[in-house]
Amino acid sequence: MADDLISFARPRVIIMKVKISALTAIISAFALLTFAFGCGNSSASSTNESTLPAATPEKTNIVAQKTDSKMDAVSNDEYKGEKIVKTEAEWRKQLTPEQFYILRKEGTEQPYTGEYNDNHETGDYHCAACGLKLFSSKTKFESGTGWPSFYQPIAAKNVTEHVDKSLGEMRTEIECSRCGSHLGHVFDDGPQPTGLRYCMNSVALKFEKAK
Ligand SMILES: [Zn+2]
Repeated sequence: MADDLISFARPRVIIMKVKISALTAIISAFALLTFAFGCGNSSASSTNESTLPAATPEKTNIVAQKTDSKMDAVSNDEYKGEKIVKTEAEWRKQLTPEQFYILRKEGTEQPYTGEYNDNHETGDYHCAACGLKLFSSKTKFESGTGWPSFYQPIAAKNVTEHVDKSLGEMRTEIECSRCGSHLGHVFDDGPQPTGLRYCMNSVALKFEKAK
């Protein structure tokens, strides 16, 4: 009785297997078509990207600075999107150990110790690493924090914001747009007209007195 059932059941199993393999073949063919279509799309878009003119200027705008004298060739007043890229060894050679720690390793100077916290002279504050003009004394204010504080940069494009989660809280780090050096942080408890407080490290800045 049991044998009969098995022999009766077998053909059905075979038919099911045939159906399954036919289905698998259809699915595979469809998958192949989709894959081929997908590849076509991606290769087409990558071709478009490679022909986009926007990809090239960033590479060509990199300023090779091997010596400090070459910094004069770049305008420090107006940032035009150029990038200064140096190796860690090159930065170490150019900067003092304190500058290297703050600018390149995102360090923070002790409050009330910096050269510019109490500076009330008229002039501009430049990036201590690349010389780009960052802040004007006109926007400097007494924050009472012990760090030189400004309510806005010379130009928004001269500084770049990054989310910093290093102290377990969300802060906005400020970098020099041209050389990527760490300058300080920005907070939203500053005075009007911006309501912002750019809390900078004196070590990261170089003050140039107005003539
Ligand atoms: Zn810089």
